[in-house]
Amino acid sequence: MSKGKLIIFSAPSGSGKTTIVRHLLKVLPEKLEFSISATSRPKRGVEENGKDYYYLSLEDFKYKIENSEFLEWEEVYANTFYGTLKKEVERIWDKGKSVIFDIDVEGGLNLKEQFKDRALAIFVMPPSIKILEERLIMRNTESVESIARRITKAEKELKTASLFDRFILNEELPVALSEAEKIVKDFLKK
Ligand code: 5GP
Repeated sequence: MSKGKLIIFSAPSGSGKTTIVRHLLKVLPEKLEFSISATSRPKRGVEENGKDYYYLSLEDFKYKIENSEFLEWEEVYANTFYGTLKKEVERIWDKGKSVIFDIDVEGGLNLKEQFKDRALAIFVMPPSIKILEERLIMRNTESVESIARRITKAEKELKTASLFDRFILNEELPVALSEAEKIVKDFLKK
C-alpha cells in the first residue's frame, strides 16, 4: 500500500470519540479525511450509507473477508461485523491526506501494530463507567440490552488504554477537543 499517515481514535462506545473526530475533520479539512468503515449492522437514526458507514449484508461482508479486502475487521458484537476496507484507506492517501479512524479498541490496536510510526493511536477515556452509561442512555439510540453489552465491553476496553500512544480524558468536552487538536497537529508536522 502507498505511504500515508493514520490517526486512530479508539474508545468505548459513548466516550465521545466521534465528537472529537468530527471536530478534527472540521478544523483540518485539507489534511484529514474520515475512514468510512464497513459494517453489517443496520442503519441507525439519520445515518447515511457511504457517509457514516458502508452498510453491507452479512453475506457480502463475509465474502469481502474471504477475498482479503479488509485491512482489519472484527465481529464487534455477535453477528455484527465492522471493518476497514483497504481501498478506503488508499482512496484517502491518494488524495494526499491522512486517514482518521473512529474504531473500536481492538481494531485500533491492530492498525497501530501494522503501521507502527506512521500511525498515532489515541484512546479517549470517559470520566467513569457510570457517566458512560448515562451518556448512552441520554443518546437514546440503543436498546437496554445494547447498552448493557456496550458497558460490559467498555469495562474490558478501559484496561487497554496504556497500549495506546496517547490518551485523552473526555470530562470537559472543550478541553478534550483542544487537546486532541494539539496532539494531531504535532503528529502531522513530523
Ligand atoms: P456503532 O455501532 O456504535 O457505530 O459502533 C460500534 C463499535 O464498532 C464502536 O466501538 C466503533 O468504534 C466500532 N467500529 C466502527 N468501525 C470499525 C472498524 O472499521 N473496525 C473495527 N474493528 N471497529 C469498528
